[in-house]
Parts: sequence; C-alpha cells; structure tokens
Amino acid sequence: MKLCRFDNDRLGLVEGDDVLDVSAALDAIPVQRWPLAPGDPLVLNLESVAGRARTLAKTAPRRKLSSVTLKSPVANPTKIVNAPINYQKHIDEAKADPKLGGGRKLDHITDWGLFLKATSALIGPGEPIRLRMPERRNDHEVELAVVIGRECREATVENALDFVAGYAIGLDMTIRGPEMPSWRKSVDTYAVCGPWLTTKDEVTDPNNLRLSLKVNGETRQDSTTAKMVYNVHQLIAYATSMYTLYPGDLIFSGTPEGVGPVKPGDTISAEIERVGGFDIRVEAFRG
Ligand code: MN
Repeated sequence: MKLCRFDNDRLGLVEGDDVLDVSAALDAIPVQRWPLAPGDPLVLNLESVAGRARTLAKTAPRRKLSSVTLKSPVANPTKIVNAPINYQKHIDEAKADPKLGGGRKLDHITDWGLFLKATSALIGPGEPIRLRMPERRNDHEVELAVVIGRECREATVENALDFVAGYAIGLDMTIRGPEMPSWRKSVDTYAVCGPWLTTKDEVTDPNNLRLSLKVNGETRQDSTTAKMVYNVHQLIAYATSMYTLYPGDLIFSGTPEGVGPVKPGDTISAEIERVGGFDIRVEAFRG
C-alpha cells in the first residue's frame, strides 16, 4: 500500500497515477490527551488506518496525482536519523574533495556514528527546497528513508525489520562547510521525504533497490542500496544501540556517490525502485 499526505493534510491511497481520498480513515486514530505518546499517531495506528483506507478506497473520490500537493508522508517523526558515510564510493569521493569531508576521518560509518536532522527541516515534494547560504555549495543527497513502525530499542540485525512500517525517498539536502552537520543539514526544507509511505510488504528486500537522482533531467546519482556499508538491518541495530526509535521516526540511510550542487530554478527528480519517485523544485530563500 502506498499512503500519501496531500493538500490540506488529507490522506491518500495511491493507485497508479491516481490518489484515492481516504481521509475518513484518519478517524481510526484515537484522540490523545497531553502528554502525547512519542511518535507519529498515524504510523502508530497504521494497521487500523490502512484497514479503513482499504474499505474506503472502493468508493473514494479519485484525483490525479499530478493535481495534488504532496507533503511528507510522516507528519510527526520524533527524529530524523542519518547515516553520514554509508556507501564506499561516496566515502571515496569525500576523501578526494576536502569540501565534502570537512577534514574528518573518513574510513567507516563508525568513525562518524549517526547524526540527527531537525524535524522542522522536513517537507514533502510539493513544497520547494529554499536554499540558504547561496555562496556555499548546496548539495543533493538521495537516500532510502526507512520509516520506523513501532517503538524500538537495542534491535538486532535479526529482528530489525520487525520494527519497520515502510519506506520512502529521503533527500538529505546539505550546505557544505565546516560547521556541525546538525546545523548545515537541518535548515528549513533541507529534509525532503516523499512521495508517499510504501508499506514494507511491497518491498521484499530494502537492501537491493536501485536509487537515482537527476537534476534538470541529467543523472547525477545512480546506485543501489545493495552497496550500503551498513544495510537497513544493521542501521536499525546501530541506531537503536544509542537511540530509542518511535513510530514515524525516519532513518535516512546514506547517499551514494555523485553528490553535487543545486541552484535556484533547478528541478531535482528522485526515484527508488518499488518505492516511488518525485520531482521537487529548488528556489532561493526569501525571508
Ligand atoms: Mn546524507
């Protein structure tokens, strides 16, 4: 099942080029009193929401995907966990270009650990990326985004996928420079997630998916998640050795080689096999 959030926070079930408006399925989410349980309420209740959505889909109003504004399929992650160096060829290109590595040791993912992007940076593909610090390199990074389905700590490689709800595409937009990643990569609009949540039953092996990114139609990144240093299972085990993950938390699993700059006016097209694809515009920031 492919579930999207669109327009004024409506819930859609994606079928081919159409969106079925199944917003009434959101009634399956119980109303909570303060303090809210950590995590995204839709993902926490995904099974009942998906069940209702399936029933509603039979008679749901149908819209063209191209006519709706797609938001991040997860509205309220508690954190966006990121793998900084998780493809060997990206490690190699970062070693060769001091602008990428910032002078840090760059041999293995465990040299850096994981980092967090602010949840306030999160947008869907229907909203443009708004570039800050235009004098710096602002780079694209396409990544498989893992959507965590339930509370998870100290997962093992063996049970890691039990905690996954599904997958999406993540763009880890990045200002290059010497500051901490949590500063340069957490700018408003610098965490793109979309086009929808593809539930895990549709992705038999997340560690064998082709992923690609084009800028204005020109291919910049084209690889496969089979080349990740830490695969999805290992990333979940690694992340939960330090962090508790909650429903809706996102793991951006690292980018393959081919990162490069974008500028206002560009269109980024990202695609991941079995998950989906989207186009997103790049604009200048206007305060
Ligand atoms: Mn990244």
